[in-house]
Order: sequence, then structure tokens, then C-alpha cells
Amino acid sequence: MAEELTPLSGEGEAKKSLNFIEQIVASDLAAGKNGGRLQTRFPPEPNGYLHIGHAKAICMDFGIAQRYGGVCNLRFDDTNPTKEDVEYVDAIREDIEWLGFHWGAEYYASDYFERLYRFAEELILAGHAYVDEQTAEEIAQQKGTPTTPGVASPYRDRPAEESLDLFRRMNAGEFPEGAMILRAKIDMASPNMHFRDPIIYRIIKVPHHRTGTQWNVYPMYDFAHGQSDYFEGVTHSICTLEFEVHRPLYDYFIELLKQVEGQPDDYAPHQYEFNRLNLTYTMMSKRKLLQLVKDGLVAGWDDPRMPTICGLRRRGYTPESIRSFVDKIGYTKYDGMIDMALLEHAVREDLNRHALRGSAVLDPVKLIITNYPEGQTEDMPFLNNPEDPESDSHSIRFARELYIEREDFMEDAPKKYFRMTPGQEVRLKSAYIVRCTGCAKDAAGNITEVYATYDPETLSGRPEAGRKVKGTIHWVSAADSVEAEVRLYDRLFTDENPSEVKDKELAELLNPASLTVVQGARIEPFLAEAKLGEYYQFQRVGYFCLDPDSRPDHLVFNRTVSLKDTWKKVNK
Ligand code: ATP
Ligand code: MG
Repeated sequence: MAEELTPLSGEGEAKKSLNFIEQIVASDLAAGKNGGRLQTRFPPEPNGYLHIGHAKAICMDFGIAQRYGGVCNLRFDDTNPTKEDVEYVDAIREDIEWLGFHWGAEYYASDYFERLYRFAEELILAGHAYVDEQTAEEIAQQKGTPTTPGVASPYRDRPAEESLDLFRRMNAGEFPEGAMILRAKIDMASPNMHFRDPIIYRIIKVPHHRTGTQWNVYPMYDFAHGQSDYFEGVTHSICTLEFEVHRPLYDYFIELLKQVEGQPDDYAPHQYEFNRLNLTYTMMSKRKLLQLVKDGLVAGWDDPRMPTICGLRRRGYTPESIRSFVDKIGYTKYDGMIDMALLEHAVREDLNRHALRGSAVLDPVKLIITNYPEGQTEDMPFLNNPEDPESDSHSIRFARELYIEREDFMEDAPKKYFRMTPGQEVRLKSAYIVRCTGCAKDAAGNITEVYATYDPETLSGRPEAGRKVKGTIHWVSAADSVEAEVRLYDRLFTDENPSEVKDKELAELLNPASLTVVQGARIEPFLAEAKLGEYYQFQRVGYFCLDPDSRPDHLVFNRTVSLKDTWKKVNK
């Protein structure tokens, strides 16, 4: 049963207009800026796995470099050893490649620790930075508000030599974490709060996954990011809107750096911001996702309910579907919320084109074709993918005893029930038209068997002389089908915007029905041969893929998405 879908986007569609960042890049290149160079970077912090929000950034950073003949490098923003780990570095690499992108160079912010440290020393000597010995709370209290100026730290005007000595001793490990920090000395009355003497270095005494115990001081994001862009020669530093207010500081440090390093050229990286992705029924913060994993609320970072790239991969999402989703939502300057249904639509659209079709019965009840000879079987051709003219077919074995879905039989059916009910004809997909003759029940009244007779003249593909059969149902052979476990997924959170819910523990926000495990499903042998990384449509049921938990003697499938979006109807 082919599902009805809107026409595929892409080919044939009018050429889309450029997004605002593409416009900037195109005009910079046309004007010969940066010597005609285009260089971007994707700068993840290796403190968690990538999620669908990162995919949006990846498609921008890598995509724009690809389209305009530039290069996109991968830079691990590894400036906080307390949260970072090589496990994440490896996972990030794998996910980017899976999404279909390739980086030029691979960099680490930690490669620049020496150069940043020296820059910090220069700033201290030039009176642009000082060591502050106040507590974090005291510093926060002095910040002021956007409309009232902050209060200067009592350490603000200490001699440069004193700050330099303390900074060196901070790095030598003489002071405990939190004892003091290095601040840039800018403007405690600036309307931009980020200019009110921002913290640029703090003491961290946790070994770093790359530099070990070499450093006891680590640069803050604002002191590492722009300079790293500058060191590498990034031309367009693209990030999300929350960094817009950091941009003046980004430019400020790069300007100072150029002065200190004596680089009078007109090259400087520029930061551009787009709206981050927020999805309904989803949390995107890595901190929250890590908590889900640590608290055992999900099976891991790659739990198929997680919005992580590895979770979506395990769930059966294709890289193409994620890219096409990102393409559809686009890039703007305004934050908003994207409906999860759009992501599901994108994967349906892609799987409809690529998934191999097979027959599986999730909730089986036996159907006996009473006039079909015992011991006889027929192998019916079954197209692997009716959407793909190149695709092969396999065969599905018809026999006297079959399984059909329990919900495809009703003893007392309403008028518009076109499936199996006594006296009514229905087509068994790829096989015959059968007429239901009744059923058997156990003592409790549960249906145990359904009976029908078949018409040998109605083999699929032959003209159906004047016959009006409205329903087609799927089936598998009782003897040849194989048992499988099937995992059905729903939204992980009950609330449309779980990040905004206050006064609730993470666990309380979860949808108790987010996972349903079905044992005893029956699948045709073609599906029992399913491979990891391939995509399937269980006809009439949904899109599925094999789960890595699967074993030859215990097959496990994940439902990627149902055939149609039924969610709103049921839940609203
Ligand atoms: P999170 O807030 O989820 O923990 P992060 O911003 O700390 O994420 P980074 O590793 O610093 O994660 O992000 C790397 C890049 O991905 C940054 O350029 C960031 O702007 C971008 N990014 C992160 N989350 C999103 C999102 N939801 N939508 C679009 N881009 C995102
Ligand atoms: Mg970050």
C-alpha cells in the first residue's frame, strides 16, 4: 500500500533563494574579501554527543564551505577538562562523517593554550587584564545590570607585575580552584555586560584529555573562541544567536591580539549568528541529555528516543532525511520552535524512496484458508520497493495457515470496516482475495483463529472481473515467518516544551509511553535477513530498522516512524 505523500522536494523545485549567510558569503567572495578565501569551522565542545541541533550547525558550516568552494575545519573546543572526554571526540567525528560531511584540518583549542597564555601575559603587562581574588559571588554582585553600571573590583588597579606574578603562580598550581581568576580590564559601565571585566582564565586542576596536567589555568570560551578562529584563518565564524551579544568582545580580543602580535593586515574573522534549532517534545541541552543518560532514564546516548545523531541513526533516520529537514527549516535571525512532525515528515519522505518493503505482523492472530490444500505453498513475488524502478523483488510464501494483524479482524464490524469480517471479501496483499467465514474463540472470548476461503482465480495481478474489494491486508506464513521483538517509540517528553517546565524533575517530564516493546511479532524471512544500517518498510505498519541489540536467535527491530502522522489526532 503506497502511502500518499506530497511530491518530493529537490529536483524540479524552483531554485531556492539564498539564506542570509549564503548572501553574505557570496557577496564577500564577489568582492574579493579575505583574498577570495572562504574558511569556516565547526567547533563542538567534546562534552557530550552531537544532537539534531548540532546537525543544523554542521549543515551550515560544512554545507556553505562545500557550495562556495571553501574549507570547513573541525575544531574541538576543549577548554574545560572537567566535562570533556575522548569518548566524545570520537563520537563527534563519527557523527559528522555519518551525516555526510568531511572536514579539512582537525584542530583543538588546546593546541593554542601556549599562545593564548602568552597573549594573556601580554594583556596583563599592557594593563588590559588583572588577577581578581574575589569570590564568584562577589564578582557577580558587582556586575550591575544593563542599565546600572557595575562596581570595580578592589583588585582592578593592582600593579601589572603583581597580577603577572599571581597569574604565573595560578598556572604553577599554587592556588586552589576558585581562589582567583584573571579578568580582562575593559569597562565596568559598558551597556554590553560582556565588557564588564569578563573572566578570561580560571584555575582547573583536573587533567585534560590531551594536555594532561601541563596547565592549571584554562581560558574561558570568550577568550579562546575568537582567537582560535584568528589563528586558523577562519573567515566566517558562524554560530547561534545567543552569541550575538558576545560578538563585540570577540572582535575586541582579536583586535588586541593583532596589536600584540604585530599583525597590521586587514584579515580578521567575522562572526555571524543564526537561530538555533528548538524542537517540540525535545530537550537539546547536552547537560540535560547527559543527565538522562547518567540517571538511567534512557538506555544511553544512542537510545532511539534521544535527539542525538547516534540516537536518530539507531532509530533508523537516514543522513539524507536529517539534511533535508535542516534544509526545509532554513536559517533565520529569529528563535522559534520547530514541530517534531516536520522531522518525522522528512524521514518518511526519504524512507518512502529508499526503504525495502516487507511483510510483518506485530500482533498476530492465525488465519486459516480452509479451502487451500494442506501442505501446498506458493511463492508470491513481492516488490522490494515500488518507488524504485530499479529495485528487485523477493518472494513471500503463501500457505494454508497465515498470520494477520489481530486488528484486521472484527467479528461485528461497522459498515466502513473493509478488512476481515465474516461474509466480507478482502485481498491478501500480493496473493488472493479471500472471504472471511468466521472465527474460533477461547473460553475467555479471545479470538484464537480466523477462517476464510480463497478464490483461486483472484491471484494478485489478474484482472478482478467486476469485483469490489475495498480492503487489502498484509500477512505472513505461519510456518515460514520468524519471531521478532519490535520496539515502538513515542515522544520522549510529554510537554511540548519540556525545557520551559519549572518545578519538575527530569524523570517526571518523561512520557511513560515513550517505549513499547512488542514480543512475538512475526516477520517474513526476507526481513529476518535484515542488516544493520538498512532501512525497511513493514507494509501498512511503518518504517523499521534492525537494532544493534538484535541477535540471530532474537531479532530486534526499531520503529523509526509510523507511515502517517497519527500523533496529533490521538493526543490533541
Ligand atoms: P548545548 O547547548 O546543547 O549543550 P552547545 O552550544 O554547548 O550545545 P557546542 O558543542 O558548543 O554545544 O556547539 C557546537 C556548535 O553547534 C556551536 O556553533 C553551536 O552554536 C551549535 N549548536 C549547538 N546547539 C545548537 C542548536 N540547537 N541549533 C543549532 N546549532 C546549535
Ligand atoms: Mg557550547
